[in-house]
Parts: sequence; C-alpha cells; structure tokens
Amino acid sequence: MIYLDHHSTTPCDPLVVQAMLPWLTESFGNPHSSHAAGREAAEAINRSLDTIATCLGVPASSLVITSGATEANNLAIRGTCLHPRQKRRHIITAATEHPAVLDVVSDLGKQGFRISVLPVDSLGHIDLNQLADSIDDDTAIVSIMWANNEIGTVAPIKAIAKICHDQGTILHSDATQTLGRMPINVQDSDVDLVSFSAHKCYGPKGTGILVAGNGNRRVRLRPQIVGGGQQNQLRSGTMAPASIVAMATAVSGATTDVSDQAGRLNQLRDSLWFGLLDQIDGLTLHGPALDSADRLAGNLNFSVPLIEGEAWMAATPEVAFSTGSACSDVSDKPSHVLSAIGLSESAARQSVRFGIGRTNTPDEIQRAIELLAKSHARVSAAR
Ligand code: PMP
Repeated sequence: MIYLDHHSTTPCDPLVVQAMLPWLTESFGNPHSSHAAGREAAEAINRSLDTIATCLGVPASSLVITSGATEANNLAIRGTCLHPRQKRRHIITAATEHPAVLDVVSDLGKQGFRISVLPVDSLGHIDLNQLADSIDDDTAIVSIMWANNEIGTVAPIKAIAKICHDQGTILHSDATQTLGRMPINVQDSDVDLVSFSAHKCYGPKGTGILVAGNGNRRVRLRPQIVGGGQQNQLRSGTMAPASIVAMATAVSGATTDVSDQAGRLNQLRDSLWFGLLDQIDGLTLHGPALDSADRLAGNLNFSVPLIEGEAWMAATPEVAFSTGSACSDVSDKPSHVLSAIGLSESAARQSVRFGIGRTNTPDEIQRAIELLAKSHARVSAAR
C-alpha cells in the first residue's frame, strides 16, 4: 500500500517508539507519586515539556497535555467561554474550521453564546477587514485554524492575532496540521491558545497539546476534566510519561530542519500533481496555488471530472488517499470546506485529498500516478 493520507494520520516514527518504550515497561512509575519511581517519571515529563516548549517557542508552564487536538480545542474554547469570570458571550470562527472547533462553537451557541462564522474566499482565506469588523466588546474568543486540513490554506496568523489583540480579544488557533510542514513559533506569532496533535507529526494517537498562554498575555481557562487536580488543575488525570516522551520526540523531529522537510514534501507533491495532470484530463486544483507560501507543504486537493472521489478510491486499493473531509469519514455529506470555497455538491463529491509524508519516496509517487491513472480510466469507461 502506498500511503498518501498523512493529513489524516502519520505512522509513529521508530525513534518515537524507541523513546517511549522504557516508560511503559521498566520505568512505569506514577509521575505524581513522591517515591523514586514516581520522581523518575516526573523528571521525564518535565524534560519532555521543556523540549516541546523550546520547539514551539513557548514557556513550558503554558503546556497542557491532552488526549489530542479535539480535546485541546474543547479546552481552549469551552475553557475560555465557560470560565466563571468570563462576561463576554460572543465567539468568532470560520466556515472552514475542523468539526473539533465548529461543533464546540455550535454547542456553545446552544448554551446562549452568540456565534459569528466568517465566510472564506475561493482559496480558503477569511477577510481580515471582516474579522476586525466582527469583533466587539462582547467577543470572548476568536478561533481561526493555522492551516487547513483539506485544502492546505495557511492563515496569516500573526496578522490575525494582532487584529484580535488590538480589539481586546484573544485568539485560539488549531495548528494540528502544521508540525513538520512549516516553521512554528507560537510566541512570535502571538497566538494565545494553540492546539496540536501527536499523531499528525509521527507520534502516537491519543496525545495532544494545548498551549495555554504564550507568555505575552494571561489566559483564563475553566478545566473541562476535573479530578485529582493534575496539570495546575487544568486537566486532571494521571499524566502519561510514555505518551509525553513520545510527543516530545515527535515534536522535536517535526521541528528540526522543517524548511528542508517541507521542501521535500512539496517536491513529491508537485510530481504527483504534474504526473496526474499528464495522464488525466480536466483536473481542477482546490486551495492556494502549489507554489504559494499560503499552501501547506505536501497537501494536494483537486477534483476529477466524471467520477466521484469515492469510486476512484474504491478502484485504487493500492493507494491510500481520501475524499471530502476524511479525517473522520463518518458522514457521506460533501465536505463543508469545499462548499465554503464555493464548490457545488457534485464538484465536492469529485474531490480527493492527498497528503504526502516524510517516508514517501519518488518511486512510490511514480507508482501511485500509474495506478491512479489506470483506475481513473477504468472507472470513467465503466460509467
Ligand atoms: N483539527 C484538525 C485541523 C485536524 O486535522 C484534526 C484531525 N483530523 C483534529 C483537529 C483532531 O485531532 P485529534 O485526532 O488529535 O483529536
């Protein structure tokens, strides 16, 4: 199988597995116990948090370890809006956010919050003037993703943060897709709350990070999981040394030489796109131009004429790619992101997404082009 679906998930890097294993077997202490085994585990966690903090450009004290980006988004948005001292009742987000933001916001809408969902242009960008106009004295939080998981649009996040701060509100950004694909410095970008996920950057599933405050401004969160009071009361539950060591190893790998990593992903992505363009007529690219700095490295999203993405996928079992949103293929609705950039329902159904990853090779890309071109010809002929 040629795996070209790295926006959906990535394989665990062998170095990550190697780093985490001792913390599951010989050094299994509870990091909250005060005996030697516990202290050893707590020290491993502290070292890992320092590594992650350095890689992301934030103080270690701002990191909250979660079960993934979904939980990090919930803690950021619910935690801000439902804090006992929160008086504001307005939330701003964008139409192309992941459901792990949109559904949280809409749930808060049912609890009486006023919601503004900003539209995007055909490349997936919000209008910054419209954002500025939408913020008012009642805006508790703005949530705009750093990079889109379907069409790869990278937001001008530093400019967005400035607009939010100039108007006295805070910014959350879902940065799940960024690690390993672009340089990230949270403090420099000045985003207040940022979500990440280990399994999108060659770490294990089930671990994520919320950066809660970047050192420039105070954020107040109401915990969403209460109990033993771990992580400064922000997220109770025994911390998992193996997962946190794994996350640190993954984040470190994803932020080392990231521009080189991104360049390599883009070369492979471009050869996939131009190879397919040569073989199949009428492909339409979605999202920013491939050579634009606004496009996430390794991301490709386009529609094919005549056939549905699902049929193409079913006819090409040797290649893993996805249709529609595809991070959670649980509904057969066309992607809300493609609808938001103006695609018709049928064009959205003809769309597919590829995500090139670190382990892909030029040979795999050539083989994938052959397989995809053949299956496309077969499915279109059978129509
Ligand atoms: N946000 C984005 C942009 C994503 O791509 C994903 C994963 N599909 C998530 C959030 C959810 O991440 P997790 O699986 O870690 O909960």
